[in-house]
Amino acid sequence: MRLGKTELMVTRLGLGGLPLQRVSEEEAIAVVNRCLELGINFIDTANFYTTSEEYIGKAIAKRAEKPILATKTTSCTQEGVAEHLKLSLKRLGVNHIDLYQLHSISDADALNQILDPEGPLVTVLEAKKAGLVKHIGVSSHSMDIAKELVKSNRFDTIMFPFNFITCEAADELLPMVKEQDMGFIAMKPLAGGMLDNITIAFKYLFQFPDVVSIPGIEKPGEIEEIVQVLKAPHLMTEPERREMQRLRKELGTQFCRRCDYCQPCTTGIPISIVMYARSAYKRLPAGRFFSGIYDDAIEKAVNCTQCGDCEERCPYHFPIREMLAELVSWYQEEKRKYQEQLASKRV
Ligand code: SF4
Ligand code: SF4
Repeated sequence: MRLGKTELMVTRLGLGGLPLQRVSEEEAIAVVNRCLELGINFIDTANFYTTSEEYIGKAIAKRAEKPILATKTTSCTQEGVAEHLKLSLKRLGVNHIDLYQLHSISDADALNQILDPEGPLVTVLEAKKAGLVKHIGVSSHSMDIAKELVKSNRFDTIMFPFNFITCEAADELLPMVKEQDMGFIAMKPLAGGMLDNITIAFKYLFQFPDVVSIPGIEKPGEIEEIVQVLKAPHLMTEPERREMQRLRKELGTQFCRRCDYCQPCTTGIPISIVMYARSAYKRLPAGRFFSGIYDDAIEKAVNCTQCGDCEERCPYHFPIREMLAELVSWYQEEKRKYQEQLASKRV
């Protein structure tokens, strides 16, 4: 398929490189190789996915024909972007990045920063002029911000969460994206690990011909299963449709869309980060999970004053206080077990 105005011809299924950081170098290389053997030609990664870029770089080093490579920076400063880009080129072992994305622009501050005429976009545009970057994309988790990003007409692609539970993009974003001839990349096609019915999840996404999906893959068998769905007829059977509706009903009552409409929390709790902690736990190395942003977020969530303001703002009417309390206890228990394991290894 054509990735919007980039004119890049990508496969409808790409490889999401985030989980590669959880596995060994050998295993990560096997995943990349299997994806390429299966005909996948689009790989997405990010500067902050620790070892992911490096493993991908090693997997493709000897290939004369490189896949289309997309990577991202979370930096909002010119210096930060320059440093991240240099590192990405080095780790991936390439002389240019096909699609360089400013990642997770999900609130008004980040939006203003990247659209600032003196902001980080200047560095990416300079890199494009120098041939280091071929196309410029952006990613967001917030619908309102994503719409602003599309309207700004500054980007070639947008990456946004899209799956049969978080499906607001179908009506609200895709038509705008199409009008601007931008490419659309579906992140979280399995809702960050919440959806395990691969057939239904991908049959849903494959009905959108202009969407490239990038499931995070950690074992070759996972991509093989999805490719089977891609090769078979995509039309959902009636029982599959009923099951999708059932899952929507069941998960829709507890699945945080990370839209951040519940903010600002009166005590500064990053609610959507806490809500995502369980999925992140499945995807990140334990050492990083228990010492990074999730640890900070849970520490803040402990201080929830139960004011309830956030619940009034959540469009899905989630019992946020109850959900946070449950996640805090789950996290504390998992951390305790992890620390015990560490201690027993030291003995
Ligand atoms: S109920 Fe807790 S999470 Fe919600 S706004 Fe109040 S302090 Fe923040
Ligand atoms: S709790 Fe509700 S408002 Fe807050 S991020 Fe999740 S879905 Fe959005």
